[in-house]
Amino acid sequence: MTGRVLVLGGTGEARRLAAALVTAGVDVVSSLAGRVADPMIPEGDVRIGGFGGVAGLVGWLRAAPMAAVVDATHPFAATMTDSAAEAARLTGVPLLRLQRPGWVAQHGDDWRWVDSLEAAAAAVGGFGSVFLTTGRHGVGAFAGLNGPCLVRSVDPPAPPLPPRTTVVLARGPFTVEDELALMRQHEVDVVVTKDSGGAMTAAKLTAARQLGLPVVLVRRPPLPAGLAVVGTVDEALAWVGSQAG
Ligand code: NAP
Repeated sequence: MTGRVLVLGGTGEARRLAAALVTAGVDVVSSLAGRVADPMIPEGDVRIGGFGGVAGLVGWLRAAPMAAVVDATHPFAATMTDSAAEAARLTGVPLLRLQRPGWVAQHGDDWRWVDSLEAAAAAVGGFGSVFLTTGRHGVGAFAGLNGPCLVRSVDPPAPPLPPRTTVVLARGPFTVEDELALMRQHEVDVVVTKDSGGAMTAAKLTAARQLGLPVVLVRRPPLPAGLAVVGTVDEALAWVGSQAG
């Protein structure tokens, strides 16, 4: 591949892909949304901040110009993924979606699937102490909960917050021992998570299973129709290699 490759990032997979592309001698630029205060910076060139919707991304892809795009954003970054699909359609730039597989329940899990954060808030209404691991921007959906809420996020959660909120600032990976200790300390009754997938934050699911706690999981948003999708960095690397320069 001789042209520049844009990696839409903000995930561990995106950073690993950027590093692998740099190693392979590919000219790569990673894009971060600029949402966290102290982002983990990928190897290679980096740009930070939104493009300005589909029109902005179209202009950016044409100006650079970009030979290919890998959308390796988080499974719940649906706006960016939709924008990338539309911009690729309008410009003809080849686009691949790199998205890690979702989590799969094991024997002993008590998982309750819902379609939205609002539905998750309704599902935990009858529980006592709620552990929210849905990211700092999603906490507002739970603001109506009156019981104790433990919120863990990388940066402080954005208000409105549930009135009895305890905030723990931390960035994964977490061990099962860490998660067991945290859940016991806060006497957690139910865990809420998005189906982010991956190993970095899966320990909470193991801990919940061991403690016999239910987990409310928010389903992933649907992907745009017709999008080429892979689940691993190696597959994305092979796809980039297969694109004509
Ligand atoms: P989103 O709702 O899909 O995106 C909102 C807007 O943020 C987009 O329209 C775009 O602005 C900008 N944006 C998002 N990702 C970008 C990127 N990689 N480069 C440049 N601009 C980007 O996304 P989000 O859920 O807020 O996630 C933002 C970032 O955090 C993503 O990079 C994602 O991988 C990461 N992240 C998200 C989650 C999550 O649960 N959502 C968890 C971990 C990490 P314009 O329209 O102006 O281009």
